[in-house]
Amino acid sequence: MAGLALAAAPDAIYVNGKIVTVDARFSIASAFAVAGDKFTAVGSNDEIRKLVGPATRVIDLGGRTVTPGFADSHLHGAGGGPGVDLSAARSLGDVYAAIAQRVKAAPPDEVIVSNSDWHEAQLKEQRLPLRKDLDAVAPKNPVVLVRGGHEYILNSAALTKWHIEKTTQAPEGGQISRYSDGEPNGELMDRARTLVTLPAPAMTTEEQIESWSTQFRKLNAAGLTSVRQPGISLDQYRLFQEMKRRGLLTMRLNILLSAPANPDAAKVRAFIEGAGVKADEGDEWLRVGGMKLLIDGGFEGGLMREPYREPYGKDGTYRGLRLITADRYTEIVKELNRLGWRVGTHAVGDAAIDQVLAGYEAANAERPIAGRRWAIEHGFIPREEQFAKMKALGLVVTVQDHLYLAGPVLVRYWGPDRAGWVTPVRAYLDHGVRAAAGTDSPVVPFPPLWTMYHFISRDTISGGVLGADQKITRAEALRLSTADNSYLTFEEKTKGSIEARKLADFVVLAEDFLTVPDRRIEQMKVSMTVVGGKAVFATSPFDRATK
Ligand SMILES: [Zn+2]
Repeated sequence: MAGLALAAAPDAIYVNGKIVTVDARFSIASAFAVAGDKFTAVGSNDEIRKLVGPATRVIDLGGRTVTPGFADSHLHGAGGGPGVDLSAARSLGDVYAAIAQRVKAAPPDEVIVSNSDWHEAQLKEQRLPLRKDLDAVAPKNPVVLVRGGHEYILNSAALTKWHIEKTTQAPEGGQISRYSDGEPNGELMDRARTLVTLPAPAMTTEEQIESWSTQFRKLNAAGLTSVRQPGISLDQYRLFQEMKRRGLLTMRLNILLSAPANPDAAKVRAFIEGAGVKADEGDEWLRVGGMKLLIDGGFEGGLMREPYREPYGKDGTYRGLRLITADRYTEIVKELNRLGWRVGTHAVGDAAIDQVLAGYEAANAERPIAGRRWAIEHGFIPREEQFAKMKALGLVVTVQDHLYLAGPVLVRYWGPDRAGWVTPVRAYLDHGVRAAAGTDSPVVPFPPLWTMYHFISRDTISGGVLGADQKITRAEALRLSTADNSYLTFEEKTKGSIEARKLADFVVLAEDFLTVPDRRIEQMKVSMTVVGGKAVFATSPFDRATK
């Protein structure tokens, strides 16, 4: 009979598991087979055992749960770096101690910089250290605390070094925060940070490769197999290409290139022409997903229709920061659309989302973008009438668990109603708007099981449950962290679920994701992570079985 070729035996079969496939029907299997970098069959133990050949490894899952590899739709890095590490600080005292230690070892004019992966919500006092606080531990050395992607906090020596004084005006789209006497208190938001030039850590190519390899391994250990990285420079993209050439990637990457600084349409066109990068170029390891643009700030600068809560609202005048005018933004977006590029725009507040939708609609009127999966990054505070527009444009919203980290701080800035609505995943799904989960790491810690725990429970690290009406189911949370990420990057046919012919990216979990109490999800350990059929992280007993 024609076509009765002997199918090659799989390289490995995995049996005795609870395989949560996240296929269209969310079916559960017991076993699967892998050949090369793909799943070749999924089914019952008996069905899969029949496929064993003489060289097939048989891995007994011992009843553990397997899911598709986790993905993060918006991740900058795993945190860490050469700066002062504040990620473990739990009080202002811890912050000062970490800085004091670095000061002691430094010559008096050396600029001391922190890593960005910390937030005041993790501190007992729930507030930022400011200029005078930092002066007490660093009277001579300039200190710049970098926090997340939107804030610097400077001590007096640093303010002096960069000539930021009582009379200094913040550039458009930025803010210099002040004490009540008008003196800068050290906090610089968004574009005000351009007043400061941080010393660049001089790293060789090999050191950079080493640093990224280490970060990807950390992410692999949390179950991540794919990340989308918004705001990658051309140099970073070239570095990732080099890592791919050398076979060093253990993470599948989808990158959004950063727009040039202070962009306009002509600059963006010149940048793309000069870069020699084609829209959507790449393969299953490294692909260009478009260009990243920014409308507003973050926790302190999200652009709102209504003022911030007092005293942050400054007597009803402060609505957040607009980093680019509506006209200029729309011109850029239209230009990118003409060039065939896709766009992901950072928009936190409802007024920022208004601006994105106006820009995308203008582009869509020239050449349809529906079906091209343009994105809104974050989308903290969408308003009712915005959902239909998002759906009509076929947008995907990348949703993260900022509230998990910063809940009480957001309540202070925006009041309980707005804060409790951040980020309304239930509402997005109920309105038929596509979403893909992530963290914004290192702004928010990267473990995807924490993100899923937050979306399922709406619990926060230090502020209890906020916005309980926005809870989603475990199946929805898992889909947002796997298959729906693949949809965002146009890869739903090749990855994101455990199905024959898809890439063998999967996670073995120590406990049953679908049945343990909610709290256990936050604590759950990853036993093994596999990318393209190869284990990139494994603990006992799989560390031996997979060698
Ligand atoms: Zn981000």
